[in-house]
Amino acid sequence: MTDPHDIDVLILGAGINGAGLFRDLCEQGASCVIADKGDFGGGTSAAPSRLIHGGIKYLETGELRLVAQSTYERNLLLRNAPHLVRPLPTVIPIFSWLRGIGPALRTLLGSTTAPRGRGAVLIKIGLAIYDLYGRRARVMPRHQLWSRARALREIPPLTPRIAAAGRYYDAMVTQPERLVWELLADGIRVNPAARALNYTTLQDTDGTTIRLTGPDGTLALRPRIVVNAAGPWIDRVNAALGAPSRLIGGTRGSHLLLDHPDLLAALNGRMLYFEADDGRICLVFDYLGRALVGSTDLRADDPDTVACDEAEVDYLLGALRGLLPGLRFGRDQIVYAYSGIRPLPASDAAMPGLISRDHSAPVAEPQGPRVWPILSLVG
Ligand SMILES: Cc1cc2nc3c(=O)[nH]c(=O)nc-3n(C[C@H](O)[C@H](O)[C@H](O)COP(=O)(O)OP(=O)(O)OC[C@H]3O[C@@H](n4cnc5c(N)ncnc54)[C@H](O)[C@@H]3O)c2cc1C
Repeated sequence: MTDPHDIDVLILGAGINGAGLFRDLCEQGASCVIADKGDFGGGTSAAPSRLIHGGIKYLETGELRLVAQSTYERNLLLRNAPHLVRPLPTVIPIFSWLRGIGPALRTLLGSTTAPRGRGAVLIKIGLAIYDLYGRRARVMPRHQLWSRARALREIPPLTPRIAAAGRYYDAMVTQPERLVWELLADGIRVNPAARALNYTTLQDTDGTTIRLTGPDGTLALRPRIVVNAAGPWIDRVNAALGAPSRLIGGTRGSHLLLDHPDLLAALNGRMLYFEADDGRICLVFDYLGRALVGSTDLRADDPDTVACDEAEVDYLLGALRGLLPGLRFGRDQIVYAYSGIRPLPASDAAMPGLISRDHSAPVAEPQGPRVWPILSLVG
């Protein structure tokens, strides 16, 4: 930065999206400041399921470009960040052979009813397509379809109601917060004049100068572009910048960490990715010696007060009891619980699970006293 007050880009929000952009801009030599009101990566980026998935669920909504992009990015992360990203063998328990084909076709054609009871034929087709899309920079094995007998042999506490199981590979990230931090550190390393500020918030703006306030006092900046990377807080930040928006329609997801050695022994390093009785998708896997169980997609919109409530705890334990009747699940096994709001695009869709996970970056052009465009990173 030649003049500390005139910069190319101000990024508000240092979650994975803001930090990734910061690194790219620094690599390109742009003068750049990123600020977060809390800790770096402390928002939604600290509350996910910790999967680096290729978007198998997006096959259902026909978002094939997104699957191609996500599987490729997953494969690249396995190569570029092996200290944080690991292969995750994943098992889908299947409860019938033929169910779900009609509903899946209807979803593909735009129906807003989520498919339920995906059968072995449907899952086999889905996994084959997923393998096909995941072939660029592939580092992991292809899928298998297990018989009922094999699935029960591999994971004995599974419910005997299953008809078969699909086994494929995705990936997990051990510390997403660390990934955020490394992206910021990379940016500063290549462009030492760039600045990453935490516990720093937007104080006010007259449309030209933006004043930030943080532990070191107030910083006045005149950016050419403002990037709003505030995740589920995007609409609040746009309002504070004088450009009210309705871009985000969040959904809440909750996770429990269980101290459960028998469950970990049954999982044997694999994730179970399953449909609970009400059709919501749940998952459970060995996260650094504890069992991480979670589900997403309940409507919610206040990221400052989001919490895993009693009903969600009951729901998650109940989902595990239904799937793994050979094991005991109780509140005494819970060592930690967390929730986050997924910053999905605002949508009137009846089923949150069908709202697109694709990214977009709408621009609010300069208007009134505001001289800089605002680019919001949604998704
Ligand atoms: C339950 C759940 C499970 C998920 N599982 C996965 C998964 O397994 N894999 C996956 O890839 N994705 C997953 N996601 C999605 C993923 O977590 C999000 O898409 C991603 O973290 C969004 O990152 P972000 O940078 O846009 O937002 P955030 O990480 O929320 O970052 C926004 C930042 O903006 C800051 N901020 C807010 N207001 C201000 C302000 N006024 N001034 C300065 N800073 C401000 C916040 O403090 C925050 O740090 C999941 C999401 C949820 C909720």
